[in-house]
Amino acid sequence: MVPTPLTVRAPAKVNLHLGVGDVRPDGFHELVTVFQALSLHDDVTLTPADELSLHVTGDGVRDVPTDPTNLAARAVVALAERYGRDPNMRIDIVKGIPVAGGMAGGSADAAAALLGAATLWGLDIGRDELDEVAATLGSDVPFSLHGHTALGTGRGERLIPALARGEFHWTLALAREGLSTPAVYRELDRLREAGDPPRAGSPDELLSAVASGDPHRLAPLLANDLQAAALSLQPGLRRTLRAGMEAGALAGIVSGSGPTCAFLCAGADDAVDVGTELAGAGVCRTVRVASGPVPGATVVP
Ligand code: ATP
Repeated sequence: MVPTPLTVRAPAKVNLHLGVGDVRPDGFHELVTVFQALSLHDDVTLTPADELSLHVTGDGVRDVPTDPTNLAARAVVALAERYGRDPNMRIDIVKGIPVAGGMAGGSADAAAALLGAATLWGLDIGRDELDEVAATLGSDVPFSLHGHTALGTGRGERLIPALARGEFHWTLALAREGLSTPAVYRELDRLREAGDPPRAGSPDELLSAVASGDPHRLAPLLANDLQAAALSLQPGLRRTLRAGMEAGALAGIVSGSGPTCAFLCAGADDAVDVGTELAGAGVCRTVRVASGPVPGATVVP
């Protein structure tokens, strides 16, 4: 019998609010964050096979490992070990999410692989159990499973769904070079030792703005404590952020640990206009338009 492949699609994320607290004894920072899942996605296809193998195509593939350190492979192995299954399968990843771009691309692949393997094996497990495995793989993996808009605390893995009305429109400026998430956190620690960069306050007002569906209300409330550190490591991002605002975006922010810059726009057409101007200004490698919120990892029929 020819094995039947199963494809799962998982979204990118942007942090509408990313408040970074102090370093915990386990080395992680305490976070208060508001995630939104965007229409940019990776597709992960699992096919039962005689050995575990990985095949990656799409944007930025040269920086994606095809060995067991790939987060999708780690997800399959973690689930197989926990439920006594055989992890052997072919994993095909089509990257649409920028690699090392601060948009949780690896986490999306891990979430897709978890859901895909659980479905292939017919595991009778609830979301809570899948979430538990997800959190062992990375702080953003539980959100990649759930999608939509959510408040994340702890390392970002403890989620509370947030109300969101309507659709928000984004233009994304993808950078030429990636940024390592641990390096950005280290830079923030360094900046905080040297001075006292301002910290994002409570996300309450931002959550009301998301619930209102009004991008004009949301724009001035976007906040990211990692932005100063990302700009310190890649000063050219200041030009990118400036160019997006000059092109008519309502607000621009570094996405997570960067270097992708996310611009909130008034509507879908405005997002395309901002993208066209950014592409012409030569301040980024390429641009994408996206909307959110969208669901988390989903089996493609
Ligand atoms: P985050 O926003 O969650 O901090 P990111 O989006 O900045 O992460 P990723 O695209 O997840 O970054 O990649 C970070 C690193 O993880 C890559 O440089 C790569 O070496 C490694 N990696 C492992 N598995 C994957 C995967 N499936 N896709 C992309 N990168 C992966």
